[in-house]
Amino acid sequence: MLNIILLGPPGAGKGTQAARLQAERGMVQLSTGDMLRGAVAAGTPVGLQAKAVMERGELVSDAIVSALIGERLDAAAEQGAIFDGFPRTRAQAEALDVLLGERGRRLDHVIELAVDEDELVKRIVGRFTCAKCGTGYHDTFRPTQVAGVCDVCGSTEFKRRPDDNEQTVRTRMAEYRAKTAPILPFYEARGLGRRVNGMGPIDEVATEIDAILDGAV
Ligand SMILES: [Zn+2]
Repeated sequence: MLNIILLGPPGAGKGTQAARLQAERGMVQLSTGDMLRGAVAAGTPVGLQAKAVMERGELVSDAIVSALIGERLDAAAEQGAIFDGFPRTRAQAEALDVLLGERGRRLDHVIELAVDEDELVKRIVGRFTCAKCGTGYHDTFRPTQVAGVCDVCGSTEFKRRPDDNEQTVRTRMAEYRAKTAPILPFYEARGLGRRVNGMGPIDEVATEIDAILDGAV
């Protein structure tokens, strides 16, 4: 039963890989934001506590986040875990060790999907979709066959996500670097840090991750 941390900036394909690991290996993704929303909606003891804090306009403390993760680990005692969005500080990293240790578990790998930021910006910024059928396109990598006409449904209306612009993408990457910088050295010193080329095709990224999880590399 493996416990891993998956790291990578927005757009690196972390969500895709996490979903695959859940489907193929029965692992459970513990994403801090989702867990918080889920616990509040379900009205668990920790969720009620978090709700009260948020209603006062305060930030949810490390202690609450830790309790939340403990709650989820207990509910998924027989499943491997993929941590996403936690830990983000050295103190949280140490708290995670304790949470796992209390349950006879330990962290096996910290896998970072490494990206070329300029290349990632190009991929994200050129994205657009057909407004009618939702087919995805890209200015450079997958243009429509006839300019301005959807290959699939013939619609001439397309949409772009407002946050798929260069400035927003660069800001998100800088935030990511700032958040992971404090924890990577902590794990690298313990020999847990692994890097995978996040720029390759989805299948290749998957193969690289699987090799790490299976202890083949
Ligand atoms: Zn279409």
